[in-house]
Amino acid sequence: MNLHDSEHIAGVLQSAGYRPVDAPEHAGVVVFNTCSVRASAEDRVWGNLGALASRDKRGIVAVCGCMAERLGSQILERSRVVDLVFSVGVLASLPELIDECAHSRMCETGNVQDASIDCLPTVRRGDRAAWVPVSHGCDNQCAYCVVPAVRGPERSRPSEEIVAEVEDLVGEGVLEVVLLGQNVNSYGRDLSGNATFASLLRDVCRVQGITRVKFETSHPRDLGEDILEVMGGEPSACEYLHMPVQSGSDRILAAMNRGYTRDGYLDLIETARRMVPGLTLTTDIIVGFPGETVEDYLMTRDLVLQASFDAAYVFLYSQREGTPAASMEGEVTEPEKHRRFEELVGLQDEITGNSLSMLVGTEQEVLVEGPARRGDLLSARTRGHRVVLIGAQDIRCPLPRVLITAAGRHALRGTAIDRSCARGQAG
Ligand code: SAH
Ligand code: SF4
Repeated sequence: MNLHDSEHIAGVLQSAGYRPVDAPEHAGVVVFNTCSVRASAEDRVWGNLGALASRDKRGIVAVCGCMAERLGSQILERSRVVDLVFSVGVLASLPELIDECAHSRMCETGNVQDASIDCLPTVRRGDRAAWVPVSHGCDNQCAYCVVPAVRGPERSRPSEEIVAEVEDLVGEGVLEVVLLGQNVNSYGRDLSGNATFASLLRDVCRVQGITRVKFETSHPRDLGEDILEVMGGEPSACEYLHMPVQSGSDRILAAMNRGYTRDGYLDLIETARRMVPGLTLTTDIIVGFPGETVEDYLMTRDLVLQASFDAAYVFLYSQREGTPAASMEGEVTEPEKHRRFEELVGLQDEITGNSLSMLVGTEQEVLVEGPARRGDLLSARTRGHRVVLIGAQDIRCPLPRVLITAAGRHALRGTAIDRSCARGQAG
């Protein structure tokens, strides 16, 4: 969601005549779009601001995003290099704010709920794949999480607006959309009428010309069979589900206020795998939540083995001010937290490696996203959202079929099967 917000920031600035440069030291304006989910994300921003402070010459420095919502003018007090703190709610007037803050440092944080940035100009990450928010904010109250406080309650976009955006994107050549929401599954509950995520997903999948539709994130409590039915039945709905489990212990799940049990989760993924053949399933896990005993942790480790996720993002619990978990007892010591983290990451790496190696020798349709970070390779994604690296010379169209030739720890290697384009896509 932050990356997509950054596309709007770039869009607003570009419309006002700004152009991107290749390094902060060459920039007239530097904008930090920040995340507050874990303290480490905030620490990185403070570190980057510190690095800018040591330069004699620099442009206007602005900070927005979740840190701006959370800390407001405290950011101006703590870092003397910051000229402007703003929230996405006032993004439309960013060019004027930049002019004003050149005279005097300022903090302009409107009400996050009033923010309607979906209609602002956008500079997208690529020509073929696009993010499309379906809702903003979150109505859940997971005990560890700062998101509801900084992004406000859930506000769903009208489904006609979302479908119209997808139609426009297809008109511009986009082949894949990723629908975004903190919890896409509860989409529509705040709207009048009976909009549901299942019906929205079906409508988006049926937009003429859209080839692939993905979405994230799914809250296990709200993933109904109606959604799985659309995923299994619509050819453009991809076989990809990111559904954070967070813990494998019922006691911890209850303390986290997640609203489901370990067995309920395991049943749900069994249903999902049955209804969506070939499903790629990924998850998020937190280790070291307050009160997590060794037994609780072992339940999580056991669930990881049982669920056999195709990939999992494991996080060290990070205490966030103002959240219910911040005042919970039973802090796990740092060394123990790290021990659990390392062990779980090692275990999941093995499972991820196995899941990737099962794809070696198979044919996959991939969407080329752009140059890979290293070498002269292109980075592409399967329908299951797996990264595939392919030789640039092989590829003539955006949606080639490739043979998977090797599996690394986190990505696959592939070669184009033939030089003709799948589904008649011209290059
Ligand atoms: N709305 C999404 C994403 C939330 S943030 C969801 O519900 O899945 C992404 C992930 O960060 C979460 O799934 C959780 O695993 C992790 N996370 C959130 N708050 C955290 C905290 N205080 N400490 C550590 N990890 C956290
Ligand atoms: Fe945070 Fe829970 Fe909402 Fe996700 S569902 S954003 S973890 S409160």
